[in-house]
Amino acid sequence: MLDAWEKGLGRPPVERPLPLLSAFTGEGTEALSLLSIGRRDAALLALRESVFGPRLVCVASCPACGERLELTLEVRELLVGQQTEQTEQPSTISLETGGYEVSFRLPTTSDIAQLAISQDKDVEWARQMLLARCVQSATLGGAEVGVLNLPSNVLEAIAERMGVEDPQGDLQLSMRCPACAHGWQEAFDIGHFIWGELNAWATRTLGEVHRLARAYGWREADILSMSPLRRQMYLDMVGE
Ligand SMILES: [Zn+2]
Repeated sequence: MLDAWEKGLGRPPVERPLPLLSAFTGEGTEALSLLSIGRRDAALLALRESVFGPRLVCVASCPACGERLELTLEVRELLVGQQTEQTEQPSTISLETGGYEVSFRLPTTSDIAQLAISQDKDVEWARQMLLARCVQSATLGGAEVGVLNLPSNVLEAIAERMGVEDPQGDLQLSMRCPACAHGWQEAFDIGHFIWGELNAWATRTLGEVHRLARAYGWREADILSMSPLRRQMYLDMVGE
């Protein structure tokens, strides 16, 4: 897990959980980055359950009054539909709307990483570029149409169909503020969440190695291979 954390550190945020997923599934990070976001997130939720347990504690702020909310979720509550490894996911999806015929595929981690979405870039621009990457062909009355020339209602229809085909890819939690009763939808990103946990765990573990190595002169590998109970007992004896 420390290796996976170290490999994740050097990647763009959206790709950071991939080395961990790779370590647990045996799939290469390259192959994982080509899974649809929903398929990837379903695998990350399964990984989260087996590594850190089924319960997740999330924090959010009410957009109306700023109240801080803490909510506890179970992994199974976050799984959308009956998606499993075995379920076939179409590689190409066809759509007909308003005379346009469009073929597209579902967005992947690789697509999002290559957009290099940064804070200063327009969210709408990023969304259009993502759709543009995923559209394989578009025609109107048999004539080829450039992706960027597609009308917004066609882009809208594509985005909506992506959500239907890959429901796990855009997880929205229904929130209600206990202080002011404001209701809203909060996006939940398991990749971001699990990376936060891995990062905290790795930082804590390195701190423990540091304290024991300094006190006893043990090697990192020996400290890491110790059972958690014994490591904790030595840490208690070393004190602060
Ligand atoms: Zn509120």
